[in-house]
Order: sequence, then structure tokens, then C-alpha cells
Amino acid sequence: MPKLIADRPILTMTSALGEVIAAARTREAAGKRVHHLERGEPNFDTPPHIVEALATAARAGETHYPDARGSAALRRALVGKLARENGITCEPDDVVITVGGTHALFLAFQGMLGPGDELLVLSPHWMAIPKLVGFTPGSSMRSMSAYLELQAGEWAPDRFVRELREAVRPETRGIYLNSPNNPTGVVLTREQLQAIATVAIERDLWVVSDEAYEHILFEGARHLSLASLPGMADRTVSVFTFSKTYAMTGWRLGYVVSPPALRAVMGPMLSFYTTHGVFPAVQSAGAAAITGSQDAVESMRAAYERRRGLLISGLEGQDAIRTPVPAGAFYVFADVKSAKAGRDIWDLVREWLGLGVAVLPGTAFGKQYDDWVRMSLASSDDDIEGAAKILRSHYARATAGGAAG
Ligand code: PMP
Repeated sequence: MPKLIADRPILTMTSALGEVIAAARTREAAGKRVHHLERGEPNFDTPPHIVEALATAARAGETHYPDARGSAALRRALVGKLARENGITCEPDDVVITVGGTHALFLAFQGMLGPGDELLVLSPHWMAIPKLVGFTPGSSMRSMSAYLELQAGEWAPDRFVRELREAVRPETRGIYLNSPNNPTGVVLTREQLQAIATVAIERDLWVVSDEAYEHILFEGARHLSLASLPGMADRTVSVFTFSKTYAMTGWRLGYVVSPPALRAVMGPMLSFYTTHGVFPAVQSAGAAAITGSQDAVESMRAAYERRRGLLISGLEGQDAIRTPVPAGAFYVFADVKSAKAGRDIWDLVREWLGLGVAVLPGTAFGKQYDDWVRMSLASSDDDIEGAAKILRSHYARATAGGAAG
């Protein structure tokens, strides 16, 4: 038999999310209720004016092969948005429209990582990152714990610079960061971003700045784009998506802003040969999203902030689950060391599924996070309140009666 292409490890990696969803479905098929806190997908529909723009564009005949870099109209609209909101000054040719943020990251990693190169990934990190790096020809990633230390106030900016300097090796070609962060909800401050910029410039590194959650910010937290810092526009690839801001996960629409050195490969080469571009009518709808009313964006943001309160206050009165307060994105990354009581994190995840609460194990975001779980605020109020109630009474009972569940 010929060797299977699927022999490459990247093609057989399993997903924690897939496993939890399958277990939740089995439970639901048996007629039992599951409170879903495992998915990072807004439970809102796309705002109607964006759906209308898609229909109008499709009826007007925007159904032909697209420009693989993206439509001129959408790229122009994004150049305006990037200047206004992100402090990034660029030309339409610096922007490539992608099939979601995932494809934008794929292009970034393909464009900058070659055989023997290493990507330093600030962690915990989104679970697709190891797979996306795995598709590059011969490069690898190394995880560097950062967000929990920054969130806990353990690292002042000068300590962060020292930690970064120590982590960078001769083979390190770039750094990947994600702020607001999935899963911790950390929003990096200007000083923290400056620490990354200092080391990137000192060691001549690329930086991939994943800004998928740029608009999901709580209590006045401010999002800053790394590329807007002095000296960073030439070495930063900035990744954005419509998925979270506009509840457009299914549309698969994102974009990447590349520095001039990568411009020649990102759109004309990589994007063309990986997807041949995005459906033109979807791109017109994207332009409508950018230029139209942002009221729906604010009301969804406010809902995530309210749900953050529901989950955290719903878990008061127990000590087994500790919930640091996220400043952005739509997750609570909870410390469950005490609830886990020395077991494997998957034992706890399965125990909670048995109670009717689905979450993701922290190990999905880096193998060292085996005392943590991710709980999503992109779920319904009902799911969040129900899950908090179950967990609070489970652990309150265990404390009162002395019998751990
Ligand atoms: N980056 C991060 C940190 C994410 O959490 C996600 C989606 N969960 C993405 C990028 C990509 O999303 P999409 O491909 O839907 O734009």
C-alpha cells in the first residue's frame, strides 16, 4: 500500500472540543439536559442589515470569481477602520481578505516560518495554533506561559521583558500573541505590549498579533494593536475576523494586515493557492458590517459583560472553583485545582458532564494548564445560570457534608 498522506501527525490530532461536544450529545440523546459552556461561538444571529447586504449583493450578480486578495471596496473600508480604531496606517494592498481569522493565521505562519524555525506562542493559547503551525513545512512552536502571570499581577513589564528574552532562542523566528486572550480574557496593556515590542525589535523577530476579540472588552478595558507601537508596523502581522464582533462565525470572513516584506506572498500567492478568495457577496456584506451601525456590536458586548457577572456571582458561596475576572473576550478561565482534587483534568470534565455542565479542559490551551477549565460566556443566559447553580450546589454540598462529589 502507498504511504497515507494522513500519516502526518497534524492530520490525526484530536480535538478536546470535539470530544466534549460528542459526550454532551450522547447525554442529550439520552434525554438529559446539558448546559453548554464549551463553545466559543456567539449564540446571536448575524445582525439583519448584514444579512440583507449579502442578499442584495448576490442578487446583483456578485457571484463570480473574486480577486484572491479581496474586493477593493472591502479593503478600502478596512483601511479606514484600521486607521480609526487600531492606529494602523496601511494601503489596501497591505490587507488580504481571508476565510476567517483561521485562514489569516494560516497565511501568516506559512509566510514567515520555514524549516527549523520556531514560533514562540504566548500561552495559554487558542487550541488551533499547534495545528496551524503543524501545517508549515518543518517549523515548530514552543509555548511560553504568560497570561496567567500577567493577570495575577506577578509580572511587572520589566519582568515580562526578562522572561521573553530568556525564552527566545536562536531558532525563534516569531512570537504569537492574542489579546484579548482566548481563554484567559487578559487584555494586554500598552506597557505589556511594549515589552513584546522591545524584545521583538532587539532579536529581530516577526510578531503575529491575533486580535479576534478586539471589540469584546469589559468595564472600560482598552484594546491596543501591537502594530501601532513605534517600530512594529514593519514586523507585525495583524489578524482580524468578523466572526466574534459581528456574530459571523459561519460566514468565514477575516483579514490580515501584513508588513511590506510579506505583502508579495500573502495575497497574490498564498491566498490565491489556498482558497482563490472569498465569495464576493460575503465581502460586500462585510463592507456593510464595517460601514454600517455598530449598535448590535455594542449590545452583544454588553450581553457578554452581563453574563460574566452572572457566572461569577452564580459561583459565589463555594471554594472549589476560583474565577479570575476576564477583561475581554468571552471566556472565564477558572482555576479548578481544588475541585479536581489530584485527579486528571479530564476526570473533572467528565464528572461535570455527568452533572450536566460542559466545559473545556485547560489542557486544550497548553498541556501545563491541567488545573484549569474554560467556561464560555458566548452561551445563553439560561445555560450560564443553570451551570453556575449546579456547580455551586455541588461544591457547597460537598463542603457542608464533607463528602466530595
Ligand atoms: N483567534 C482566536 C484566538 C480565536 O479564538 C478564533 C476562533 N475561536 C480565531 C482566531 C479564528 O476564528 P475564525 O476563523 O472564525 O475567524
